[in-house]
Amino acid sequence: MLSFFPVPYPDECYYSVLCRYMVHSGISSIKEVLRVLFGRELSPLSTMLVPYMSSRVPEWINQETGITEITFIRDHTAFHYLTIGSKQHETEVMLKRIRVGERSYYINGYRKNIASAYLRYCPICAYEEKMKYGEMYWHRQHQLKGNLYCIKHGARLIDSETDLKKVKKALIPASFALRDYYGKTPRDVMKDIKPFPTELRQKQSAVQKDILWLMHHGEEIGGLEGLISGYKSELAIRGLADKRYDRLENIPKLINKMQSYFGKALLKSLCPEKYEFMKWESAPMGVVKFLSPLEHVLMMEYLCGSAEKFARSSR
Ligand SMILES: [Zn+2]
Repeated sequence: MLSFFPVPYPDECYYSVLCRYMVHSGISSIKEVLRVLFGRELSPLSTMLVPYMSSRVPEWINQETGITEITFIRDHTAFHYLTIGSKQHETEVMLKRIRVGERSYYINGYRKNIASAYLRYCPICAYEEKMKYGEMYWHRQHQLKGNLYCIKHGARLIDSETDLKKVKKALIPASFALRDYYGKTPRDVMKDIKPFPTELRQKQSAVQKDILWLMHHGEEIGGLEGLISGYKSELAIRGLADKRYDRLENIPKLINKMQSYFGKALLKSLCPEKYEFMKWESAPMGVVKFLSPLEHVLMMEYLCGSAEKFARSSR
């Protein structure tokens, strides 16, 4: 058991907790920090949103705090969200491998799910946390693609100067990267705030709430199997799927409907991928396995009004 480990803050990402451990432990060498925590070297980027070597959590945090490895994964990584489009069995195998630090794990498009090449922050969160805790931290939600503004304050998220290349090799605490905030007054912070356009806010907010819900309840979707079964029923009602042949029908119509539901401007800022099958009239339902977690969120939101309602309706 470590003699000290920082208690994670709300929505703090795994990587950020490790950064704060380094600061507060007084160990200045990253190699030494990794040796103490993990017994070996690893790329800190693999701890940003994924529970890499989380099997160590019980050795770091006393269970009396109520924090277990399971709650840590749910509250401080995006694992349950990132794996919503994987088959249930594959997710189980993946988690087993990731949590003990097997190198041969693979989360489909992990890097593509990270919003920016830089760690991002909300200026008001940074200011408030400096006042409340005396330090800042990196939020999990702020780093995920699909999150454009802070769900708490409505301020557009800002790229810090800490790029992912640095994150790959170093533990860079938000308190160091955002150290300007120690000297900032509320008036200074106001200058950093770019509000999100009101007309995009409602749908954008719904998407972000879905992502948050899925980080905690992603398993309730039932993996790729649950998604396909839910899509089949919901799309068939709209004449966009043929349940007998397991096919998506009239794909251009589906795309048009989603564009008018979310608005082209919002879809553009969320940057979904362009797939070959989107040009086709119909395709086997199985092609949805290629969609990213964010694209599944858009589908569930369009079909049922939220990921939670989708999970309930497909049960
Ligand atoms: Zn904020």
